[in-house]
Amino acid sequence: MCYAIPGKVVGIKDNIVTVDYFGEKKKAKNDFYSLERGEYVYAQGGFVVQKVSIQEAESILDTWKELFFQLQKTDLKLAQNPKTLYQRANYIRNKYLGNACCIHGIIEFSNYCRCDCLYCGIRKSNSELLRYRMEPDEIVNGAVEAAKNLGFKALVLQSGEDLWYDDDKLVEIINKIREKAALLLVLSIGERDVKTYKKLYKTGARGVLLRFETSNASLYQKLRPKHKLEDRIELLKKLREVGYLIFTGFLIGLPGQTKEDIDNDIKLTASLGTDMFSFGPFLPHPQTPLGKYPAPSLDAVLSIIANTRLANPEAKILVTTALETLDKENGMKFGLLAGGNSLMINLTPQKYQRLYDIYPDRVGIEEDISRRIDSTIKLLHSLGRAPADLGL
Ligand code: SF4
Repeated sequence: MCYAIPGKVVGIKDNIVTVDYFGEKKKAKNDFYSLERGEYVYAQGGFVVQKVSIQEAESILDTWKELFFQLQKTDLKLAQNPKTLYQRANYIRNKYLGNACCIHGIIEFSNYCRCDCLYCGIRKSNSELLRYRMEPDEIVNGAVEAAKNLGFKALVLQSGEDLWYDDDKLVEIINKIREKAALLLVLSIGERDVKTYKKLYKTGARGVLLRFETSNASLYQKLRPKHKLEDRIELLKKLREVGYLIFTGFLIGLPGQTKEDIDNDIKLTASLGTDMFSFGPFLPHPQTPLGKYPAPSLDAVLSIIANTRLANPEAKILVTTALETLDKENGMKFGLLAGGNSLMINLTPQKYQRLYDIYPDRVGIEEDISRRIDSTIKLLHSLGRAPADLGL
């Protein structure tokens, strides 16, 4: 079973519910269920994902009771006496959001892309890359497996900008997943019409992961030929208006990026009303025009996570797996101790994982998924992080 616990509904106002996790109260948006006080739900990313029977919830909570308070103590201990930048960020994270931590699954369903971003290994000009597309039913089966057998409550469906998946195919995929599994579905499919995104929202998708990559408009245009920063920002704003949870952010260490750019990147992420900050290191891919530039240091990335946390005490900050490429042993742990409070686990079928080659040396590729989940949960336990929802 994955890392999630049910909470009790203790308040309802319109479609916002207050959910109690052993005395900690979090708000969540409820679009899909008829709920009453005293009932139990799973929530993820500030969103009610599933209603659970009182009997089932109470039996799960019984097994969690002792551990939940132990985890709180461990986290509090690790967050005390802040002296360094990272420790201050960890202290603030604990003070404002407690020890809650989200784990999302991700399925990378196609490595075809019509774009040619200079930093990306699956850009269309990379002719050395073997391309793949998962069939709609294969994606649905993967999502159902993630929810039912692995216990995930939130899933990102990611691809390059691959228009082979037209509106009909995407609607069919989301419909089928929603018929069979309770998941917060987050789309990471690039720039599409707002009309398309509206259709997918109506079908049941509720999150969009779309980074703006850099707030520097001229750098953006250099790195993403034929694209403009203002279009992406406009799209993000419109998607927020549609009702989507917005996961966005930037790349750290891009060639030509300045410290001022990074400060602006953090500000822009916050100003978009971002629900999940998602930023990670630029990792040079040898089959791209930026292949010879250096990656940033682990410290550079950690200090940006920490500064983001200090400037945005209540933010959900994703620790990306790219951080583990900079430090395989401790990247994730250090990210969580520098202000991060969310993770993603790759659930792409093993035969495709190596082909989603956005950057080299991705960690966890072809590792047994149960082992990966176990080691992640072990890490979270050691840091005192609990799977209560982070709330709205
Ligand atoms: S960054 Fe995204 S849009 Fe750009 S080439 Fe890679 S997958 Fe395509």
